[in-house]
Amino acid sequence: MASRKAQTQPPATDFQSLRRKARTVHERLRKLYGVPQWTKLDGVSELVSTILSQNTNDGNRDLAYTRLRARFPTWEQVRDAPADQVVDAIRPAGLANQKGPRIQAALRLITRERGALNIDFLAEMPVQEARQWLTSINGIGPKTAAIVLLFCYDKAAFPVDTHIHRVTRRLGLIGEKVSAEQAHDILEALCPDHAYGTFHINIIKHGREVCHARGPECERCPLQDVCLYYQRVSGQEEI
Ligand code: SF4
Repeated sequence: MASRKAQTQPPATDFQSLRRKARTVHERLRKLYGVPQWTKLDGVSELVSTILSQNTNDGNRDLAYTRLRARFPTWEQVRDAPADQVVDAIRPAGLANQKGPRIQAALRLITRERGALNIDFLAEMPVQEARQWLTSINGIGPKTAAIVLLFCYDKAAFPVDTHIHRVTRRLGLIGEKVSAEQAHDILEALCPDHAYGTFHINIIKHGREVCHARGPECERCPLQDVCLYYQRVSGQEEI
C-alpha cells in the first residue's frame, strides 16, 4: 500500500528542485505583475475582515465590513451589540448567521484572554505559537491565521486560498492530493526570499487572470515550461 507521503507529494521531485521551481514561479510572476502593495490593518480588524471574507468575494466582504464599521465604529461596540444587529450589518458577506456570532465570540475571547481588544502581542510570539493561539479561536482556520500573521505582523506565513491551491497543484509545487490546509506548511517552506506577501498575492492574481479554474489560458502563461499540468495536456515529458 502506498504511503501517505507518496500519495501526497509530486512525483520525481525533491525539496531542492521544488524550491528552485518556486523561485522561478516567483520571479516570473513578479516580472508579470510587479511587487504588490497592501494596506496594513491592525490585527483585530484584519481578523474580522478575514472572517467576513470566508466563502465570498472581496467586494461583498468590503461592503459588509464598511456597513459593520459604519453601524458600530468600535470593536467593543460590535462585541457588545445585539447579535441580530451584527448579523444584519454583515449580511452582504453571506452566511451572516454564522459569521456574526463567530465575530462576536472571537472579540469576547480576545477581551477575556488579553483584557482588551488588541492582539498585537502576536508580533512578539514565534510564528507557530502565534498560529496555535489564533487557530484555538472557534472558526479561525490556518488560512485566516496566516493572513493575520503575514499581513499584520510580517510573519513567515503563507495563506492558501482556492486560487493558490489550484495553481500550485497544477504547477506541481504541491502534490495532487494535498489539501489546501496541508498546503500551508509546504508552501511556507518553499516560498523564496521570505517574499510571502508578494508570492501569495501574485499567485492569486495569476489564478484569477490566467490560470482559471475552468479553461486555464496556458497559451499566454509564462510558466508553461515549469508546469506539470501544461506538460501533461501538451503531451510533453515531465521536467
Ligand atoms: S501553464 Fe496553464 S495550468 Fe500551468 S500555471 Fe500556466 S495557466 Fe496554469
